[in-house]
Amino acid sequence: LDLVELRRQGHMMIDFITDYYQNIEKHPVLSQVQPGYLKQRLPESAPYNPEPIETILRDVQDHIVPGLTHWQSPNHFAYFPATISTAGFLGEMLTTCFNVVGFNWMASPAATELETIVMDWLGDMLKLPNSFLFSGTGGGVLHGSTHESVVCTMAAARDQILSRIGEENIGKLVVYGSDQTHSVIQKVSQIVGIPSKNFRAIETTISSSFTLSPETLRLTVCSDMKAGLVPFYLCATVGTTATTAVDPLGPLCDVAKDYGMWVHVDAAYAGSACICPEFRQYIDGIEGANSFSFNAQKWFFTALDCCCLWVKNPSALTKSMSTDLEVLRNKASESKRVVDFKDWQIALTRRFRAIKLWLVLRSYGVANLRNFLRSHVKMAKRFEGLVRTDERFEVVVPRNFALVCFRISPSAISKANLTPSDEKCVNEVNCKLLEAINGSGWVYMTHAVVGGMYVLRCAIGASLTEEKHVAMAWKVVQEHVDAILPLTMY
Ligand code: PLP
Repeated sequence: LDLVELRRQGHMMIDFITDYYQNIEKHPVLSQVQPGYLKQRLPESAPYNPEPIETILRDVQDHIVPGLTHWQSPNHFAYFPATISTAGFLGEMLTTCFNVVGFNWMASPAATELETIVMDWLGDMLKLPNSFLFSGTGGGVLHGSTHESVVCTMAAARDQILSRIGEENIGKLVVYGSDQTHSVIQKVSQIVGIPSKNFRAIETTISSSFTLSPETLRLTVCSDMKAGLVPFYLCATVGTTATTAVDPLGPLCDVAKDYGMWVHVDAAYAGSACICPEFRQYIDGIEGANSFSFNAQKWFFTALDCCCLWVKNPSALTKSMSTDLEVLRNKASESKRVVDFKDWQIALTRRFRAIKLWLVLRSYGVANLRNFLRSHVKMAKRFEGLVRTDERFEVVVPRNFALVCFRISPSAISKANLTPSDEKCVNEVNCKLLEAINGSGWVYMTHAVVGGMYVLRCAIGASLTEEKHVAMAWKVVQEHVDAILPLTMY
């Protein structure tokens, strides 16, 4: 580690980064390269001798940047956002600066203590009940992803129930979600040893905006119990991936309680919005859940990676995740007066993510964070309004946050006499529209299929997006729909 070079190259890197952001709109948002492009451009093996940073950065610019899909472009409306901020950048630098491996309190007391403080701050901002906070009877931990959080909570729930009914009954355990629940739940069920046939994706319908019905949940659970199975884990989602549907937490938790199930609330995208009083209602009923997680890397200005998980009963988690490695033994752990986060996660090694989140919270403050989130919602409202003014389109489901789900309507397609307007044809026309929009390079949007409908998703929330970008996105949509269904036909 050459400190003179660190300073020199560090300044160069900051220049590179700021230049990248300054010019980001010059690149097509969706990368236009073909598979295998990079192998043709880079040498066959690693260099034997050192290469100067100047050469490496030039190659980044010439060969890597063209192969990127520019998630930080203000014209990126795909998937869910991966927001960044000055504080997120600087926080990530500090994480790397210290590069501590804070698996237990001893290994870096500040890393552990800051994490407990930040998780309580954030829990307070979300108005989580005290039962989820360290200042109450629970606590929070930072993971790298929702997947990791779900592995830990599902393993805890599994062990809790098996300690009562016997390990030999693992094949009887059943996991519940809806057909809108993220694939994380099915994947993790398999990882923790639940037979794949024991995952229930309960059907949702457009009439209930694709939310999980507590009544259908109860019926499904009862039928499983009659068949001798054991319900043990329910995932409710606040902000589903396809359409940001919000499952009714209170009634779902009531059903789960009747059958002794662990409830995990997956709010990967939408959880952050709940720091605004006007969105907090979406997690009403959270007091009945056992665990709650959201990804700060998605819509909370905290660079990858940072998933915030709170649990009501940390000892359930630590019972399943604890290890007792002789080389890690120390007096602080034995005193039971400290938190050892290695026992709250899968790996032993852990990053000092808390400092990044701390920087974000302090640099922006609650008021500004709320304002940023609200500004995205306001822009999404604007886009939704534009869609509604064009009679060729329909907004498919009510917008809850900053995602607008829309499509060319079946009636517009049949009016234009384009194709027989069965669902398949409607879907094909919408798919063609999305391909044309993305092929332009100006914007990037993605799709979902819900209730058999192919819908376009415009997810607003990239840190640099402003009203003008949203207006431009709509213009691009209109230009391409004009080629399919000219307005003159109407
Ligand atoms: N849950 C929901 C609702 C999501 O939208 C996503 C990703 O978009 C995930 C879970 C997966 O998150 P991760 O990649 O952090 O595991």
